[in-house]
Amino acid sequence: MKIGIPRALSYYNYFPFWYGFFTDLGIEIVLSDNTTKQTMSVGSSLVVPETCLPVKVYVGHVVNLLEKGIDKIFVPSIQSIAPKIYNCSKIRGLPDLIRNVVKKDFTIVEATLDKSERNKGLYDFLAEAVKPFGITETEKIKQASKRGWQVLNNFQVMTRSGFSYKKALRYAMENKVIIAENSKTYLTSIALIAHGYNLYDERVSMKIFDKLEKLDTKVYTAAQLTEEQMAEGIKSMQSKLYWANEYEITGAAAHYIKDKNIDGIITINAFGCGPDSLMLERIDICPKIK
Ligand code: SF4
Repeated sequence: MKIGIPRALSYYNYFPFWYGFFTDLGIEIVLSDNTTKQTMSVGSSLVVPETCLPVKVYVGHVVNLLEKGIDKIFVPSIQSIAPKIYNCSKIRGLPDLIRNVVKKDFTIVEATLDKSERNKGLYDFLAEAVKPFGITETEKIKQASKRGWQVLNNFQVMTRSGFSYKKALRYAMENKVIIAENSKTYLTSIALIAHGYNLYDERVSMKIFDKLEKLDTKVYTAAQLTEEQMAEGIKSMQSKLYWANEYEITGAAAHYIKDKNIDGIITINAFGCGPDSLMLERIDICPKIK
């Protein structure tokens, strides 16, 4: 049993979970290759120009998996992660978008998580994700989800301690938990605010972490914060949570704005991103920045 996972969009948030979950069920994961110029041009050629870059990249990764001979590709529709907390329309409609632009013969393993409209439980969502593999036993699915949470939690403990995305993922997949030691001192410290897919995809971010390291700059991201710290940040802006990815943008920015050790904030956002244009506006008008 093999499932293809595009190395794009929610891969950068949830892959540790999917790794633990699918492998526990005996499903082998095949990842698409790292993003290249080719991935971007293939993706861009299949969608309308107004589509945001991360979605163009995602489409390119789906095509890459098909070229590798994978015929079942996981394309979840994560509509809403809590009542009235939504993802953007592109993430919500991802399976439909892929079906309409990638005209090839393959199975889209789609599962819908919608905590707003249908209050669909997480286990229903997970059951949908493994149904094409003939796995239906609830206990087995619950057990695999525990393994998924374990890998994700280990990963988060390590990114919070300061490990890079890549290192933390490698250790988490090896079932290790190591705490980073940060003894190096830097000239400046900045908070880098962006969605995971705009930060950790080296082609998309144009290796911004390496560039800042060369400038003797310590970089902080949302990955070093707990959900409580980001929720507190949102609250301090007297802002309400609406977008599913508001924690990593508004929440992280609001937290770092108050941190005296941070010299400034850099945001990276994709042209054509509706949620970012609203969230960044709110960050910009935050009184502490003025
Ligand atoms: S949140 Fe923005 S960048 Fe991300 S998929 Fe939606 S529109 Fe694109």
